[in-house]
Amino acid sequence: MRTTVAPVTEGPAQETGGCAGVASPSFETVIGLEVHVELATVSKMFCRCSARFGGEPNAQVCPVCAALPGALPVPNRRAVEYAIKIGLALHCRIGDRTRFDRKNYFYPDLPKAYQISQFDRPLAQDGYLQVGGKRVRIRRVHMEEDAGKLLHAEAGGGSMVDLNRAGVPLVEIVTEPDLSSPEEARLFLQQLRTVLAYLDVSDLRLEEGSMRCDANLSLRPAGHSALGIRSEVKNLNSFRAVERALGFEEKRQERILAGGGRVVQETRHWNDPEGKTLSLRSKEEANDYRYFPEPDLLPLVVPPEWVEKVRAELPESPDERLARLRDEDGLSAYAAEFIVAAPEMAGFYDRCRTVYPHPKTIANWLMGEVSRLLNAGSGALTQGSVEPDGLAELLTLVDRGVLNGATAKTVLEEMFHSGERAAAIVTRKGLGQISDEDKLEAAVGEVLSANPRAVADYRGGKTGALGFLVGQVMKLTKGRGNPETVNRLLRGKLEGGD
Ligand code: ADP
Ligand code: MG
Ligand code: ZN
Repeated sequence: MRTTVAPVTEGPAQETGGCAGVASPSFETVIGLEVHVELATVSKMFCRCSARFGGEPNAQVCPVCAALPGALPVPNRRAVEYAIKIGLALHCRIGDRTRFDRKNYFYPDLPKAYQISQFDRPLAQDGYLQVGGKRVRIRRVHMEEDAGKLLHAEAGGGSMVDLNRAGVPLVEIVTEPDLSSPEEARLFLQQLRTVLAYLDVSDLRLEEGSMRCDANLSLRPAGHSALGIRSEVKNLNSFRAVERALGFEEKRQERILAGGGRVVQETRHWNDPEGKTLSLRSKEEANDYRYFPEPDLLPLVVPPEWVEKVRAELPESPDERLARLRDEDGLSAYAAEFIVAAPEMAGFYDRCRTVYPHPKTIANWLMGEVSRLLNAGSGALTQGSVEPDGLAELLTLVDRGVLNGATAKTVLEEMFHSGERAAAIVTRKGLGQISDEDKLEAAVGEVLSANPRAVADYRGGKTGALGFLVGQVMKLTKGRGNPETVNRLLRGKLEGGD
C-alpha cells in the first residue's frame, strides 16, 4: 500500500491525508508471515503415539511426549518426508545436514520446558511461492513439535492440560518481508494453502489450528530500502482475520509515524470481535529461548537420493494443473482456475475425466449444479455421496437422450441426498425423457389445438411462436419431452399444414 499522510499541525494525525499539493511523506507497507502447518502423520514427531486430532484428553501420551526423565526421541521418517515435500513444493534448497535444536521456555503446556525445533540449520531454505505476478521469497521451512493444550475450567475450576497435541509434527514456513499489503498477505496464504493441499500432508484447517499464522508488519518511507520497526500479530484464526488485523496495524502505525512517533517492536493480539490488536508483550520482555543443539538427537542427514525420490513423486503443482486443464482439456481460464482452486474438486474432475471424455461438460456441471448443491450444504465432494463415476453416469444419460438437462439437475440433487445412482433414481421416479414419438405426437396435437392463436402467428411468419409452443408441450410432459423431437414434430405439423 502507498498512502499519503497529511502533515500534522496539531493534535493527533488524521487517518488519511487530503491536502493535495502539500509535500508529505508517504509510506509503504512491508509484511512477512510465519505459518505453522501441522503434519497429518499417523504418529507424533518423536514417539509412536497417535497424532490424531481430538481424542480423549491425555489418551495419546507416552513417556517421550510427556517428558519423563530418560525418555529419548526418535524422529518420524514420514514427518521428515512431508517436510521435504513442502520444502520442494516451495522451491527450497533442502539441507543435507540439518539438525534439531532446543528452544527453551516455560509454559504449562510444554512438559519438557523446551520445544524441539530447528534454529540455524533448518531443513529447507531459500525458496519462493508465486502469488499472481509476484514471487514471494520463502526464507526457511523448518520442523518442530507442537505443544499440548491448556483447558480452562469454569470459574474457580483451575486449568488442565491435554498432552495429546504435545509432540505432533509441525512445519514452520517463514517468508521474507516481501508482501506489500494486507490483501496480498491473504492471497499468499490462500495460494500457500492450495499448494500444500495438493501435497496431502496436512488437514490445513485454520479453525482446528492445523494451519496457523503470525503476521509481521512495518511501514517505511516510500522508496527506502531499510526496514521499519515491526509489530507481530498473533491469534489469527482465518485468512480474513489476517487481512483485517494487518489493515488495522497499517493504520495504527501510520498514525504513529505521521504524528512523529516511533513504533514499538512488540507482539500484539488480534481481538476479532472488536476488530483491533492489543499489545501482548514488547521486545524488552521478549523471551530469550537459549537455543542450543538437541543433544538427544544426531544431526539429520538427508541424502540427495532421498530428496530426488521425493521430488520425483511430487504431485502436479496447481500451476501445472491449470496449464493442463486449459491447454489439453480445452477449458477456459476461468473454469480451470475455478477447479484448481479446490483440490477436492480437481481430484473429482480428474477421476470423472478418465471415465467420461467431455471435459467441458464436466467443468460446466462442477461449476454449476455441483457447486450450487455443495454451497447449499449437500455435503462435501470427498464424503462420497456422489462419486466421479456417478456424475459420469448421469452425464452419459443426458448424452444418450434418456434425460434432458433440467431433469438431470433434479436427479443430481437426489443423488446428493440419497447417495443412489442416477439410473436407479430415473427408474424409481419415472423420470426418463419421453422420446417415444407416439406419446409426444399426442401431446403436440393437444397443444396445437389448444393454442390456435400461436399456430396462426407462426404460420403468419412469426416464427418466435414456436418457442412458446415447445414450452407448452414441455409443460404437458412435465419437462420430460425430448426437446429435439418435440421441436421436429411441432415444425412438421405447423409446416405440414394440418
Ligand atoms: P523473529 O526471530 O522475531 O521470528 P525474524 O527475523 O525471524 O524474527 O522474522 C520473522 C518474520 O517477520 C519473517 O517473516 C520476516 O520476513 C518478518 N519481518 C522481519 N522484520 C520485519 C519488518 N521490519 N517488517 C515486516 N516484516 C518483518
Ligand atoms: Mg518468529
Ligand atoms: Zn508419545
